[in-house]
Amino acid sequence: MTSQCLNVVQLPTDLFIGGQWINSISQARIEVFNPSTQQIIASVADASLDDAQAAVDAAAKAAPAWAATPARARSEILRRCFELMTRDKERLATLISMENGKSLNDALGEVTYAAEFFRWFAEEAVRIEGDFSRSPSGLARTIVQYEPIGIALLVTPWNFPAAMATRKIAPALAAGCTCILKPATDTPLTAYLVAEILAEAGVPDGVVNVITTRASGKVCSQILDDDRVRKLSFTGSTEVGRVLLRKAADSVVNCSMELGGNAPFLVFDDADIDVAVEGAMIAKMRNGGEACTAANRFYVQRGIAAEFSKRFAERMSALRVDDGAKAGTQCGPLINASAVEKVASLVDDAVSKGAVVLTGGNSPDRVGYFYSPTVLINVPANADLLKEEIFGPVAPIVVFDHEDEAVDAANATEYGLVAYVFTGDIARGMRISERLESGMIGLNRGIVSDPAAPFGGVKQSGLGREGAHHGMLEFMEAKYISVNW
Ligand code: NAP
Ligand code: MG
Repeated sequence: MTSQCLNVVQLPTDLFIGGQWINSISQARIEVFNPSTQQIIASVADASLDDAQAAVDAAAKAAPAWAATPARARSEILRRCFELMTRDKERLATLISMENGKSLNDALGEVTYAAEFFRWFAEEAVRIEGDFSRSPSGLARTIVQYEPIGIALLVTPWNFPAAMATRKIAPALAAGCTCILKPATDTPLTAYLVAEILAEAGVPDGVVNVITTRASGKVCSQILDDDRVRKLSFTGSTEVGRVLLRKAADSVVNCSMELGGNAPFLVFDDADIDVAVEGAMIAKMRNGGEACTAANRFYVQRGIAAEFSKRFAERMSALRVDDGAKAGTQCGPLINASAVEKVASLVDDAVSKGAVVLTGGNSPDRVGYFYSPTVLINVPANADLLKEEIFGPVAPIVVFDHEDEAVDAANATEYGLVAYVFTGDIARGMRISERLESGMIGLNRGIVSDPAAPFGGVKQSGLGREGAHHGMLEFMEAKYISVNW
């Protein structure tokens, strides 16, 4: 157990503005709970509108020097961020487990993934290329160069408290932007610890500012109303995403939105069943099901359905459900009480409409916000959990006969973040991948997240991409210079 490597008392919990740790002007605090124990672990500052103003001022003050810092120097600092996050991996993972509830194993995986964004964007920072051409008329030369877009507001969810922050901070800094991060109120501590590490790595004062607040709506509105703020990068629910897109319209702020998902997981008769069950465990249970990429609906072809369901249910029922920060835990609690209520009501709805529970289907009788790993079969098409994000350890299985039926069912949603396809016939896999309305496809793989690949959704799962070279361009504007020489 690694909780010895974390002294909660020494954690930064004040606002991080202009390189200073400061309590909010109002002195108000927000309590942070451990969902495994329901105990308070710390409290963080509750930023007011004046604090938000100070954060924008700090980001504006730091902006010209950061934009003018040579790309190589920015790259070196980002590289150092990667190294220090890797050095502090255990400490960060323990904190993530404590405030989010996910297993230490999942938390360590998250920290590795989170740190990789710094390594990747350290490499991208020195590859900001432009274009040169002669205009078709022959009258001008066309030069296109990419410039930092300006101050960025970064708003992140609680399910990956480190990775969702670094997936935005690293490309923003690589592009030459300064930023204000507003992490989720359920998991603020990780963001502050990341900020402390970035400061140690040499990120100049004011380049990254972090503020937590109970008044997310008002604080973000005020920041977006400031003309100096030119970018909003949001990860969270589609519902809040819509609110922020409307708000950003007032000052025509450029938006990148990573929103909700409802991932279909398709298994064909010709799939390698071991690979499919392993993929299902990863796609469903990474983060205990609390991932936008979590497999939400399993469509399994009739010939393999009984065997797949049986083996998947065996694996799910064998998971060790316990305190996330305890060594050996495979499935921690959900984030809070309302998450458990939502998951339970989705399962009850499906069962009332005819679904059959193969394993789970209830909350274990213990302290903490737990729900048992659950597999449901005979799930009818009108069950709510096929339409909504479950965001918990519940796998509903639906049987299909024909390829078209599976593709139509998979596409029958307003979401389009990720889809998983398992088949032994790679030509079929490619054909189906091209027909699925989804920003990302896992073909015979239960995980797609990779800092070097463009992450993002189509339809109401979002706008823009994070990671890859695309991620940095989201923080840049193209400037075109028409030259007569
Ligand atoms: P959420 O409720 O939408 O919150 C996300 C962030 O927005 C939090 O920081 C939240 O602050 C803030 N927020 C809430 N209302 C706001 C408002 N009116 N104005 C400005 N900010 C506001 O989402 P969540 O429950 O934290 O996270 C789960 C959701 O995130 C799921 O839908 C999941 O699919 C999605 N997600 C998507 C991706 C992706 O890459 N596509 C990745 C991870 C998660 P408070 O905490 O203070 O409410
Ligand atoms: Mg929330």
